[in-house]
Amino acid sequence: MTARLQLRVSPGASRSAVVGRHGSAWKVRVAAAPEAGRANDALVRLLADTLAVPARDVQIVSGHASRDKIVALEGVGTDEIEQRLALASRAGKEAKVNDTAIDAYRRRLEEERARLTEAVEFLERENAGSLGDELGEVGSGTDNHLGDTATATFDRELDGGLEVGAQQTLDDVEAALRKIEEGSYGTCEVCGEPIGAERLSAIPWARLCIDDQRRANA
Ligand SMILES: [Zn+2]
Repeated sequence: MTARLQLRVSPGASRSAVVGRHGSAWKVRVAAAPEAGRANDALVRLLADTLAVPARDVQIVSGHASRDKIVALEGVGTDEIEQRLALASRAGKEAKVNDTAIDAYRRRLEEERARLTEAVEFLERENAGSLGDELGEVGSGTDNHLGDTATATFDRELDGGLEVGAQQTLDDVEAALRKIEEGSYGTCEVCGEPIGAERLSAIPWARLCIDDQRRANA
């Protein structure tokens, strides 16, 4: 079963969304710029997500370099497509992180910033002093000092790792607070798509959507 869908696509939008009907076509926006097929990729991803089909079942059959495109869809009927796009266009109008939610995220981020700043300062102090002190103590007499030296070094590396981790998260938290000021909070830094409320409430300083985070970790 192959369904065909006519689309009018606006690339380079602030975020990807199904906008609504446009004559016989559906109008959609994608956040990606029309460069090197990125807008087409974003369109495929948007349709796959919206219509709950795998991306491989979404094929742009004409208009690759045009705003007007025809897409072939496998495994989903025309009625269902219409229904889901209509639903998405209504939901899209509410999908942006609203002001009340932003205030809550801002408070959480400010708390996290205070906590992490303290943690980074503490770890910096510890790491600066500890190795010399510990080695000094070990040097004065115990017979298993090699083991102790190794332990001291290991502890220091562990604290060093914690310090780097805390500093990285602190940077992410500060970037998130900046994005709230700039009005771009809640969108992925790679694809420009919304990060999603569920992910943001778990990690309010998330820079990437879950897909791009997985790609970055791979
Ligand atoms: Zn992304």
